[in-house]
Formats: sequence, C-alpha cells, structure tokens
Amino acid sequence: MNVLVRLDFPGGSFADLLAEIEHQHLVAAVHDEFHVVLNHGDGVLQFLELADEPHHVLRLVGIHSGAPVTMVITPTENCGIFFHRADLGGSLIPATFDNVTNAALRNTTVGEFPNSVSTIEHLMAALFIAGINSAVIEIDGPEVPILDGSAAEFIQLFKGITQKSSCRRIIVKREILVKKSEILRKLPFIKRVFLIVHDWLLGRRNNGYARLTPDARGTVINATFDYPDKIIGRQAYEYIYGGTRSAANDFIKNIAGARTFGRFSEWEYLKKRGMARGANENNVIALNDKGDGTLNKLKWPDEFVRHQIIDVLGDLATSGGQIVGRIEVYKGGHAMTNLLLRKLFSNPNNYDIVDV
Ligand SMILES: [Zn+2]
Repeated sequence: MNVLVRLDFPGGSFADLLAEIEHQHLVAAVHDEFHVVLNHGDGVLQFLELADEPHHVLRLVGIHSGAPVTMVITPTENCGIFFHRADLGGSLIPATFDNVTNAALRNTTVGEFPNSVSTIEHLMAALFIAGINSAVIEIDGPEVPILDGSAAEFIQLFKGITQKSSCRRIIVKREILVKKSEILRKLPFIKRVFLIVHDWLLGRRNNGYARLTPDARGTVINATFDYPDKIIGRQAYEYIYGGTRSAANDFIKNIAGARTFGRFSEWEYLKKRGMARGANENNVIALNDKGDGTLNKLKWPDEFVRHQIIDVLGDLATSGGQIVGRIEVYKGGHAMTNLLLRKLFSNPNNYDIVDV
C-alpha cells in the first residue's frame, strides 16, 4: 500500500491527466496547468509537475537548488517524522532539533551532508497542523519543494490522512531565553562576520531574542518583526494552538497562506550564485530595494510576520511533539528557535513529557 503510483497518461496533455485522475478516482489538488498533487489514499502523496514531453509524471522544484524532486509521504506507526533520501539510499534522517545541521541562514536543514534535507520548515508546520506526527518522507533530492512558498498547499494535500493529533506533549516548566548574540557566538568566524555585515547592511540590530515560558493553553506563538523597511515596519502576530479543530482551521485560514519573503536584489544575487533558482513571484514576496513596496501583491499587510508563525511552528515541530508553552519571538529566525529547543531539552527539569 505504500507504493508510489506512477501515472502515465496518454498524450500527456493537461486534459488527459485530469481525465485519468477522474477515471482512477484519485484525489488531486490542482495548482495550475503545471502543478498537480495526487493523494492516492493510504497517505501516499505524489507531487507532479507536467513536463513538456509526453508520458511523464514529474515534480516540483526546491527553492534554492531549483532541482526537481519527487516526494512521497507515508504515515507510519512509530512516533516521529523521518526523511529518506531516495536518490542516495542512505539511512533515515530524523526531523528532530538535535539533528538540525544548518539553521543559520534562510532555512532549516536536517541530517549530515550529503544525507540531508533542507527547507523542511513549511512542510513540518503543515504536517503538525494536519495532525500527522508519524511519517516517512521519501524525497529524491536535497530540498523540500517550495510549492507556493507557504504551508497552504501542503495542508491541502494532507486532507484525508488521519492520525492522532499528537503523540507526545512537551510541557514547558521553566523559562528559557535565547538571545541573538548567543547565536552569533556559536557560529564559525566567517559565518559570523557574514551575518553581522548582512544585518548591518539591512539596518538590523542584534537585539533579537526568543523566550519560552510555561502556558497551559497549548502552543502559543507570539512573533514580532521590527524592520527598517517601510512596508514591513513593526508587525506582531499571536497564534494559539490548543489542539482543537478550530485552532487548526484558524491557522489554515489566517496563517498557512503567508509566503516567505526576500529582497529583490538579494534574490538576484542568490540566483547568480546558483541559489534561489526555484524562486519566482508566486512563491516569494519580493521586496524592492527601497523597502517601501513589493513587486507582487501581498495577501495581508502583515503577511511577513504571519509567515514567521509558520516558520516557528515548523521548527517547534522538530521537538518531536507538541510544545505546551508560550514562545515569544522578537526578530527571530530558524537558528534562534533551534537553540531554544536545545536549551529546553538540555535539562530534564525544564520540561515534562506526556505521551498521549
Ligand atoms: Zn519560511
């Protein structure tokens, strides 16, 4: 039952594919003429990109590598999310905070290169909200496809997969604090200089922090952005996930569609260096260089900070359960959330684990 079903469709036209989907009674999320996702039932998903040539089922692209990948998600009995690099045939890669190898810059990566998978955060958030806590994710490339740059399409695909909403609750018992300066200290010299210069050029100060405190309501994420760019400025958003259906629906309606963002010039810079090749105006909000406008239309004026709720939730999901506590993030980032989890789990007096 955990088989990737390849769908050969005669002629290869979009209409033919739709007819085949209907014929086989498959559930599909049709993104546009080129991007389709099939839900084969039993939790087997297939991301497709229609290529020009006929008879082929293809894939979506990752944002940095721009390489096409196929991903198959198979729910399992064991508690936990694991990646498997189908192209390398290496060992399973646990999607856990202590296996995060590079969260310093723009995304979260798990595993040791080359047996690693990057940009897992939006997928992790979507799995969490969909209540999928145990699965093996086979992927034949180094990066999770970016889809629309948010968590919305992943969640759409996971409809029909049912699991218990959580296998483990991690109750925060003491305050944990991480400052941006700690992140910088932990980085190798070159990376530190790079980040300091990067922040300095963007007018950011190194006064960011993340604080975790006990909170019985569930996972409470309070994020604040403070950017010199006029279009972002100061934005704050709070999301509470208490484990109910309505909390999940709140996420789906108000947060899941928020896209990642980047500066247009940065994007061009990355592209020249062979990164961000999968980025386009549909999956990244492109900020102009003056910082007073975007090249594409925003879904909400505070889409920037809403996206950070996705990132934080996805990174918290690497705890291997549901964090019950309040996380307050000011000018946060992937590295900060990761260090927060490392500090939390460094002392058993900081938390209680309740298996559910
Ligand atoms: Zn993100």
